[in-house]
Amino acid sequence: MTGRFVEVADRVLVLREPLFAVNVTLVLGDGEALLVDTLSSAGQATELATAVRAVTGDPLTLVNTHHHFDHCFGNATLAADPPRPVWAHELAAAAMRDDPDRLRREAYAELRAEQPELAAELADTVLLPPTDTVHVEATLDVGGRAVVLRHPGRGHTDADLVVQVPDADVLVAGDLVEQAGPPAFEDSYPLQWPDALAELLRWTTPTTVVIPGHGEPVDPEFVRAQHAQLVELAWLIRAGHTGSAPPERIAAEAPFPARPALIAARRGYAELDGTA
Ligand SMILES: [Zn+2]
Repeated sequence: MTGRFVEVADRVLVLREPLFAVNVTLVLGDGEALLVDTLSSAGQATELATAVRAVTGDPLTLVNTHHHFDHCFGNATLAADPPRPVWAHELAAAAMRDDPDRLRREAYAELRAEQPELAAELADTVLLPPTDTVHVEATLDVGGRAVVLRHPGRGHTDADLVVQVPDADVLVAGDLVEQAGPPAFEDSYPLQWPDALAELLRWTTPTTVVIPGHGEPVDPEFVRAQHAQLVELAWLIRAGHTGSAPPERIAAEAPFPARPALIAARRGYAELDGTA
């Protein structure tokens, strides 16, 4: 079961999918609603649609925070029939439109050992690309409620979107902020990620509810602590690259577990070598 929506701020609800603790956010307007992220598969998205309908029957606009499978592979189930608008950053939209096979392959490779059934389902998932794209910023009217979509620069990917609901003081951060585990660095830009989080922090107040890609909602203090860890990591990568240290040594000193830290070090070196 996918779970149910819980209100975290005024007419802003979050459903946490149990398998990977992925957050889906539902913003209720007057006669319209906005759904941020669509989970991993047609099966998960069908259960998600049921959970949405338990809250509202209003027509949906969708947003994908980025193009990783657990945030967008449910698009076709939720927005194909009847067709509904789907928003994403222009590079996330391009990845879904131009090379869905790569996204399916990567999802399959990531899941096949531990979730073979879901991996097989993902390998056959029809990917519905976004209909509307954001370059830097766009403001939507969701039934009289302003919702701002912003790209804070490269971080978790090159195409992360942050969704701000100013009247409820909520920021949906996608995987730019992680609570359930360490940040995921496979497609990341570890030298630029701290700047993206600093930008995100400019949109907060002391009481902002920040919804991470995975895990419990957090406050700006939590984001500041993650920012400090990413600053330290970026510094280690730059110093290590200058001194020709092996990425394994960076990983051993980084403020993250060894495996993600090693991926981050390799990505950072690629950035500095101009091959990322
Ligand atoms: Zn991701």
